[in-house]
Formats: sequence, structure tokens, C-alpha cells
Amino acid sequence: METTKCLIIGSGPAGYTAAIYASRANLAPILYEGGQPGGQLTITTEIENFPGYPNGVDGYEMMEQLRSQAARFGADIRQGVITSIDLSHRPFVATIDDGAATIAAETVIVATGASAKYLGLDDETKFRGQGVSACATCDGFFYRGKTVAVVGGGDTACEEATYLSNLASKVYMIVRKDHLRASKVMQERVAKAENIEILFNTNTVGLFGNNGVEGAHLVRHKGTPQEELFDIAIDGFFLAIGHSPNTAFLNGQLELDEAGYIKTFGHGQATSVEGVFAAGDVADPHYRQAITAAGMGCKAALDVEKFLLANGH
Ligand code: NDP
Repeated sequence: METTKCLIIGSGPAGYTAAIYASRANLAPILYEGGQPGGQLTITTEIENFPGYPNGVDGYEMMEQLRSQAARFGADIRQGVITSIDLSHRPFVATIDDGAATIAAETVIVATGASAKYLGLDDETKFRGQGVSACATCDGFFYRGKTVAVVGGGDTACEEATYLSNLASKVYMIVRKDHLRASKVMQERVAKAENIEILFNTNTVGLFGNNGVEGAHLVRHKGTPQEELFDIAIDGFFLAIGHSPNTAFLNGQLELDEAGYIKTFGHGQATSVEGVFAAGDVADPHYRQAITAAGMGCKAALDVEKFLLANGH
């Protein structure tokens, strides 16, 4: 079986940064990119808050740069998904693409990120790819001149609504509270777009349509005496209600917090299993920024180096 001192799982800012540090430390890391090489940032628009890019940078372009920086120092970057892993003893054995290959690793850095959340309505599944999407930059193009709704009131929802307002003729934001959670700068952008209408105190009950989404059933002031059911006509329904950490492949072998994020211990990125480290959104319920993910990737690689030294490698 192939062996490695350091297996990195995931290719967002955390995974690639870990790969840069681990390869510069001569650990010859192997990184599996997962199902979405480059991670969430490859489907965002511009990144304006990553230090070092005064004029902003395209998300896809930034991830390409991180990838080539890791490759330059010798990181072995591979396509493939780690579908399961045995963390019961070292070396840990990871299975790639449901058994296409296996690899034994002295240490593992889990940097698998998080995936978009859905509301859990049957209609979301029914209309997936037929008007329901969790990525405005991927699918917004299909809604030129049409009416769409974005669910959520955070930075992602504001970013997606603003992006869509340049394509669609009308954008509703469906916000369950009476205020937006998003940062001031994002809120101001939404306020400036004349074709965005915010529906506060509103939840989605269902979607309807014959060949794809034609509208949404909504409820305002749910559970109060003012409760009111109403429909809006829309062609697209975009989810922007946050993300859940990608930990299913771990099959309960690492301790998670109550929201499902991998727990880390001490000052670094150590997890509940010695020799396994976690970095980025999969282990971060609080900050979830590209720059913090990159920082955690760096820490994880330094932790790996120290761990290997302490264990006679
Ligand atoms: P957030 O968790 O910040 O916001 C999620 C939004 O969805 C909230 O408005 C929340 O409502 C709402 N929501 C959650 N669940 C439901 C539900 N079941 N039904 C209806 N509404 C729901 O997630 P984001 O993805 O927006 O942001 C994540 C992190 O990424 C944040 O730290 C954010 O700052 C950052 N980010 C930064 C960007 C930038 O600076 N350019 C761009 C995008 C994200 P409620 O408020 O009621 O809980």
C-alpha cells in the first residue's frame, strides 16, 4: 500500500496552505482535492477582504494561485475523494473513491470545508436543478431578465442577491428575522440595488411550478396572531442560509461539537485522535473566512511537523 507522512484532505485555503507548509518542511504531503477542487471560493465572485489583493481577486483565480504555490514546493496534489478513513490506529488508512485505491498516512489534516445548507423542504429536492440552487454565481446566468428569490440574511445572501440583481429583473430576499445579519457594507450594497425587495419576518413553506419553479408559498410572522400566508411568482430560488461541515466520511471517529464541526484542542489544530489535525471551515463554527482557514492550515502543518518529530520520524 502507498504510504505518506502527511495526508491532506481538501483543497480550499486551509488544505492548500497546509500543503505549502508541509511541502516546504520536506514532508512530501499528498493532498486529495475532493469533489469540488478549490472549494467554496471557486464559486464565489470577487474576494475583497483577503490581505494582499488591494483591488480584490477572483475566487477561482486565487485558488489556482494557492494550488500552484503548493505544487511549486512539491506537494502531490491529486484528484479524488477520500470516501472513508480508518482512524483506529496509525498509520491511518484512507480509501479513495469508494475503493479505487487506499493510502496509509502517519498524519492526516482534515480540511474538507463545508457545504451549502438547504431548508429541508421536499420541494427543494423536487426542483433541484430546475430552479433551486445554492450558488448564484454558478446558475445566475440562467435568470437573465427573470424574477428570483434568495433565502437568508447573512453576507452570502446579500452577496448573492446583489450579484443576481445585475442579471435578474427582480430579486426578493426572504429573511426570517426583522433584520439582516450581514455586515454593514453588504447591507448598503443591497439597499443601493433598486430591484431588490426584502421580505422580512418571512419563511418559505413550499415551492410550486409545472416545469420548474414558478413560485414560492411564504408565511409572514409565522406562529403569531399576525401570521399571513402569501405567494410570490419566481423563476429561481437560491439558498444562502449557511453551510454544514463535511464530516460524513469520518463516520463518527473524531469528536464533533453540537453543530457538527470538528473539535480542536489546545492552541493548535489537534483533534480528539492523536496524529489527526483539522483546519478551515470543517473545524470553525465562528469565523469561516478564507484568511482564517489559511491560518488554520498553516498551524495544522506546523503541528504535523512537530508531531512527526516527537514520534521518531
Ligand atoms: P450566516 O450564518 O452568517 O447567515 C445565514 C443566514 O441564513 C442568516 O440570515 C440566517 O438567519 C439565515 N438562515 C439560517 N437558517 C435558516 C433557515 N432554516 N431558514 C431561513 N433562514 C435561515 O451564513 P453566511 O453564509 O451568510 O456567512 C457565513 C460566514 O461567511 C460569515 O462569517 C460571513 O461573514 C462570511 N462571508 C463573508 C463574505 C464577505 O465578507 N465578502 C461573503 C460571504 C460570507 P438568522 O440571522 O435569523 O439566523
